Amino acid sequence: MAALEKLAQPQRFRSYNRWLQEKFGERVYKVIVDGGFTCPNRDGTVAVGGCAYCNNNSFRPPSAIKTDPIRDQVREGIEYIRKRFDAHKFIIYFQPFSNTYAETQYLRQLYAEAIDHRDVVGLAIGTRPDCVDEDKVQMIDDLAQQTFVSLEFGVESIYDETLRRVNRGHDYSAFLRAMTITRGRSIHIGAHLILGFPWETREQWLAMADEMSCVGVDALKIHHLHIVRGTALAAEYARRPFRVLGYEEYLDLLCEFVERLDPNIVIERMFGEAPLGLLVAPNWRRTKNDLVRDINRIFEERDVKQGAKHNCSGAL
Ligand code: SF4
Repeated sequence: MAALEKLAQPQRFRSYNRWLQEKFGERVYKVIVDGGFTCPNRDGTVAVGGCAYCNNNSFRPPSAIKTDPIRDQVREGIEYIRKRFDAHKFIIYFQPFSNTYAETQYLRQLYAEAIDHRDVVGLAIGTRPDCVDEDKVQMIDDLAQQTFVSLEFGVESIYDETLRRVNRGHDYSAFLRAMTITRGRSIHIGAHLILGFPWETREQWLAMADEMSCVGVDALKIHHLHIVRGTALAAEYARRPFRVLGYEEYLDLLCEFVERLDPNIVIERMFGEAPLGLLVAPNWRRTKNDLVRDINRIFEERDVKQGAKHNCSGAL
């Protein structure tokens, strides 16, 4: 998304990178670390097998699994990015699996270790909505008094039927409960959504923009559904191919989705990405740069402005 905000003139949406740049006075880079977590939807606590679209394992060949102490991962990640980009400020991103899935005291130490570097200006924590409680959120909020902290919830869909069909292991009310205990603190709240489940409709996807706007998230990552090898969804697709989003259809959807979004929400991502070797569908035969260019082009052509159609009437 680096080029997305550069190309869009005037600013047609609130870019997360640009927002970070304004907040910290310069470009901020994310360093992905692996806290060694698993997920209750895989270890049998909630379910086994995980979400039907989940590619965490297929994205992480054994050679890519990091087992070094967090302090070392942070140092090495920073040095690597610094050399490539002349970077000075970093956010440490706990990305793989569910990064609040442990005892509060353990998490406190782990996060403290992650931010204990002079060039780290913040922390981002990806997790499931059913993996937080008052204790954990209070601890994360304490941390947010010292540094920028973004807590990112995998919402994926606001429809229980979808969450059930993809074996998500929680319903939408789990996210609403997580919001109830997280909202109104110093924590920057992010949500991840997937657009394109074949049994959902365009109107349902657009209603997700209304719902995210009205429920009070600060940031959003929007992904289109892509089917990757080694997942239950890929097996289902091989047995009986189902409809996936077309390229122009997705661009068209994004235009209205962004217009229905609260203009205060920062948009961190507008499409999913999968390594070509793993991607089953949709294969749009477009690069990331193509997507960035075409999103900006269509936003220009259609004079898209985030928030132009924002209201909460479509929300659940
Ligand atoms: S909750 Fe996340 S890590 Fe766990 S199975 Fe689902 S997508 Fe994968």
